[in-house]
Amino acid sequence: MDFDYDVVIIGGAFSGAATALMIKRKHPGARVLIIEKNAAFDRKVGESTTEVSSCYMTRILGLANYLGHEQLAKQGLRMWFCNSPEQKFDDCVEIGPRYNARVQTFQVDRAKLDSHLLQCAANAGSELWRPAKVAKIELKGANGQAVDVDLGQRSVRARWLIDASGRATLLARKLGHYRPNNEHPINAVWARFTGVKDWDSYDWREKFRDYMDACRTARSWATNHLMGHGWWCWIIPLRGGDVSAGIVYDSRIFQLPEGANIAERLHAHILTNPVGREIFRDAHAIEGDVHAFSALPYYSQKVCGDGWACVGDAAGFIDPLYSPGLDFCSYTSNYVADFVARNLMGEDVTASVAHYNEQYPIMYRSWFETLYKDKYYYMGDAELMSAGFLLDVASYYFGLVIPAYRDPEKAFLELPFHGTRGRMAASAIKFYNRRLVALAKRRLATGHFARRNAGWRELYDGFVPDSRVMKLLRKGLLRWWKAELTNLRLMFASPAATPAKRQSAVAPMEV
Ligand SMILES: Cc1cc2nc3c(=O)[nH]c(=O)nc-3n(C[C@H](O)[C@H](O)[C@H](O)COP(=O)(O)OP(=O)(O)OC[C@H]3O[C@@H](n4cnc5c(N)ncnc54)[C@H](O)[C@@H]3O)c2cc1C
Repeated sequence: MDFDYDVVIIGGAFSGAATALMIKRKHPGARVLIIEKNAAFDRKVGESTTEVSSCYMTRILGLANYLGHEQLAKQGLRMWFCNSPEQKFDDCVEIGPRYNARVQTFQVDRAKLDSHLLQCAANAGSELWRPAKVAKIELKGANGQAVDVDLGQRSVRARWLIDASGRATLLARKLGHYRPNNEHPINAVWARFTGVKDWDSYDWREKFRDYMDACRTARSWATNHLMGHGWWCWIIPLRGGDVSAGIVYDSRIFQLPEGANIAERLHAHILTNPVGREIFRDAHAIEGDVHAFSALPYYSQKVCGDGWACVGDAAGFIDPLYSPGLDFCSYTSNYVADFVARNLMGEDVTASVAHYNEQYPIMYRSWFETLYKDKYYYMGDAELMSAGFLLDVASYYFGLVIPAYRDPEKAFLELPFHGTRGRMAASAIKFYNRRLVALAKRRLATGHFARRNAGWRELYDGFVPDSRVMKLLRKGLLRWWKAELTNLRLMFASPAATPAKRQSAVAPMEV
């Protein structure tokens, strides 16, 4: 067949550019066209990278030098808990690493990162139309996919069409495969702020000496999360001094208090938290950079067919708590790039296409049920969440980070939770997650929720992708089992009065 291109990719952000780059690496002769709607990227959202997405960017995409020069090194994930808005800042519970991170991760300005990656794809020989919007798609399998572009009414035909259009989910919607994940009703509001307090400032050294001496890394470069009942807020530094901050909340448990506009509502909410108040007292949301999404999670029931495939957010999205967005983009874009390149070189890839359709829903469902389902019921309780956090991250290291660093080329061609080992791991993680939810519900019912959200810090040595992860796994298990013992005691305790219904930053709103 005589097509205009071998591959047309809709969307030139992270997933589209990564897919194009990987196809050109594997098959330099491939004629790849990227169609990107926007003339320039805005800052988007999704600034914190994980060990897995960072491994993909540094080892597979080859961005280590760029990331080191142009973006910030991230120093782990740190969580803050409190039990009343009046609590003193240095009485709040802190959980996070004591030292610098052992594995490279980054705080990225997505506009800059995505532009750089797109340039890499263009340098590798991909053609780029920009600004150009895909207006119409016709899928005809082996006869080619036709795409109408809003750029002088151009039409092109290609053997493969890759949807990397993000939440626009062009193909999933066109083909009727789009499904909202109604079991997880979460929403997000975020902005970039100026004037945010430095977590490591000298005046805080004078004011909060114990806080300063407890930690051997700078807290400013961490992804800091404020945790509450039914919500969490991220605080992420960006190169140049601006700070990204946003809230994600489960609307079954929490509603963002009303206010004049979403920037004010977000800011006012952060100020009701003792840690947020110290950090955001003099901060201002940058005008024009305030955003909101409702109904965050969704997925596509089918992610590929003869001549088409979805990658990144165009295939699905779950929850940003542990920043897995770019992990999904990494696995899906790498997997799809591989089978598309092999097909263009003459290989029959029917089995790979079928595997992607079978394994994607397993990966999505397992990732959701293990780490996120109903987590918002316990994330405001420091004891339960610290147990969950240690167990979650240790499982992530065993299941994904260690294999990714051992053999990245192999690991990024295997979609997570595959095979018997994947199923067994999913069952174990789901089990403790369900238990932590049950323990939280008992604590809420008996007035014990967030009781121990004061006066302690858990500063651990840091996660390392080898057997030393066992130490943190053991710590998480002990904390969980201790919470089970407390639960036994609470089973026989008399129920406390129902907690007051208020939209507080810290107190449970509903049982
Ligand atoms: C609140 C929130 C916080 C998050 N935090 C993190 C985080 O800390 N870390 C992390 O890894 N992930 C995070 N994520 C997820 C992350 O933002 C996404 O996973 C990631 O941006 C997806 O990249 P993508 O390239 O697939 O899609 P996008 O970045 O959405 O890019 C899609 C591209 O397609 C283009 N496009 C759309 N329609 C058309 C069309 N018709 N024609 C041509 N072009 C088109 C768009 O212009 C855009 O450039 C977060 C998400 C949310 C909602």
